[in-house]
Amino acid sequence: KTLFVPSEKYSKELRVAITPSDAAKLSKLGWSVNVETNAGTGAGFADADYVNAGANIVSADFEKQADFVACVRKPSIESIKNRKQGSFHLSLLDPFNEKELIKAFADNNVTAASFEMIPRSTIAQKMDVLSSQANLAGYYSVLKAATTINKIMPMMMTPAGTISPLKVFVIGVGVAGLQAIATAKRLGARVEAFDTRPVVEEQVKSLGAKFVKIDIGETGQTAQGYAKALTPEQIELQQKGMAKVCAQSDIVITTAKLFGRKPPRLITEEMIAAMKRGSVIVDLAAESGGNVAGSKFGEIVETENGVKIIGDTTFESDVSASASQMYSANVYNFIEHFTNKETGFAVNLEDPIMNGCIVTSNGEIRDERFK
Ligand code: NAD
Repeated sequence: KTLFVPSEKYSKELRVAITPSDAAKLSKLGWSVNVETNAGTGAGFADADYVNAGANIVSADFEKQADFVACVRKPSIESIKNRKQGSFHLSLLDPFNEKELIKAFADNNVTAASFEMIPRSTIAQKMDVLSSQANLAGYYSVLKAATTINKIMPMMMTPAGTISPLKVFVIGVGVAGLQAIATAKRLGARVEAFDTRPVVEEQVKSLGAKFVKIDIGETGQTAQGYAKALTPEQIELQQKGMAKVCAQSDIVITTAKLFGRKPPRLITEEMIAAMKRGSVIVDLAAESGGNVAGSKFGEIVETENGVKIIGDTTFESDVSASASQMYSANVYNFIEHFTNKETGFAVNLEDPIMNGCIVTSNGEIRDERFK
């Protein structure tokens, strides 16, 4: 079967869905791997690297004849219309917000798998793009804050005096938040964190950070481990509880997300107004709507009281080689998992992973939530 890896069309996207070394592994599995000219350039891979790995370099047109297309960001509707009937597509698709796109897959009879919908199960961890990428984004959010703020992170005792360690507050302690805590600790910061899921407290403590206790009543998580949405009253209690910690922090990193919904708005203008001049906020939810009042995706906004809100959060592209290595491994593992030596790659909707992530098949949208 033929696999096609297009170049990413969003200008800030530097990742590539398949690295040359995974292209070689896919060839061994029996795939013909076809990569669009310059698809790997942003991640540091030349066309020649793919050719050396046994792949072909092709033009964008190749999508018309591919059996399987793998990319990072959602494709255009135009591109979906070009696809072969019955072909397979795998990428991030943001299906809760991209109903027209999902409809295009169904209308053109393309079987589309959404990386966001891979179940958070032990067996599926090897193909869990949300985790592999959030881990890197969490790491890089701290580096970005550290290089934006005009202070140093660790404590330094020198003959010229003592510099206190920075205070970092991490809000939302999923995959990204845990890595942000670990990274800030490694750089010598004093770290505090909060999450609405009570199970997180132990994880925060095990990283040597302090868990901020805020009584907001009953909270919980779904069977997949995602946070449940709070009531407006609970959000208000949370904001009150966090205001003082924010005011005392040099860096605030927000990573709070709700699966299938807009991220909660957690940091208000008043809370920012009470923060110290020169403090930095990183809003890792900026692209999907933002946790922070005034944050803008793709920009660094400076408030009147001199607080910088970082919303240019395509951090995976800042570490595009590492991010592509992991993304590509997730794609490879997906394909390999569903490839049978004799019969090749097959769609099996009885399989819990495929059942979870395939959003269109046989011309139908499989999930009411995406219609
Ligand atoms: P996510 O990106 O959906 O959300 C990030 C964090 O924001 C979560 O910890 C969430 O609880 C938190 N949050 C939501 N509302 C908040 C609020 N008002 N205030 C503060 N924090 C808030 O989460 P994620 O990183 O994708 O992880 C989701 C779950 O999946 C976790 O339970 C994680 O342990 C689990 N997980 C499981 C596997 C696996 O077993 N394969 C892999 C990765 C993650």
